Amino acid sequence: MVWTVGDWCICVPESIELLSQSVQKFCGCGPHSYTAKHFLHAPGHRQSPINIRPDEVKLDPRLNIKRLTWKYPKETIELLNTGYCWKAHVPTEGATLSGGPLSHDYRLAQYHCHWGENDHIGSEHVVNGQSYGAEIHFVNWNTKYGSFNEALKYGDGLAVLGVFLKVGKENPELNKLCELTNDIKHKDECTPFRHTLDPNKLLPQKGAYYTYLGSLTTPPCNECVIWIVFVEPIEVSHEQLESFREMMSMKKGGCSQPSREHKILNNFRPPLSVEERVVSLGYL
Ligand SMILES: [Zn+2]
Repeated sequence: MVWTVGDWCICVPESIELLSQSVQKFCGCGPHSYTAKHFLHAPGHRQSPINIRPDEVKLDPRLNIKRLTWKYPKETIELLNTGYCWKAHVPTEGATLSGGPLSHDYRLAQYHCHWGENDHIGSEHVVNGQSYGAEIHFVNWNTKYGSFNEALKYGDGLAVLGVFLKVGKENPELNKLCELTNDIKHKDECTPFRHTLDPNKLLPQKGAYYTYLGSLTTPPCNECVIWIVFVEPIEVSHEQLESFREMMSMKKGGCSQPSREHKILNNFRPPLSVEERVVSLGYL
């Protein structure tokens, strides 16, 4: 297997293949063991995710010179089972993110989710060692590089907004997505939204965020991401997360006896060393 610089979220075929085969594993070749052996960038010094320690974050007044702002269209087009997670496609024209730690304008490419086999694990970032049940990533690329794939080559190429999902009351907006997961049960299945889902309603409108320099959390783990992780989680119900866990990592008819092993569970990478990095705190 030769890993190339690309974007698993945009479906680098070989990345998706290995990930979907290994998604359930906590050891072996799953997300918990991405190393230099497999991936060019995995042994670097700014890998993600990390364990965020709130008592060590630095308040950075520069983040407030121009407030972090996004202008995302109020709709999502379609939902895809990548074999590793669900991924939502959006109208990208005019879908901008700027301000806060960002020196340029970024454009939203897609959003997707990581989750666990139960409500207590699933997020990629953890706070004081504590996981949330899931984490949604809104992936944006720096428009100064002209294309998503070109942006992957630079340290400020991507800006990813991370939103923690905490189990509590049902989230009505997310229901518009959960009602579709049964239609994309198998890898590569894709379906349009029946009810308009506004991605803005999955993002906090106020509060604080952590920001630091990191990487893609999936192969080839390029160190090209400015991470922006919101402090406040959004609430979702146990049943909503369960609907994610019914998705399968194989194609339709790919196995005569589908079992638990074929379900998409634990598609998160564990925290990596913070090393010399500083995590800053900004406000919306
Ligand atoms: Zn992600």
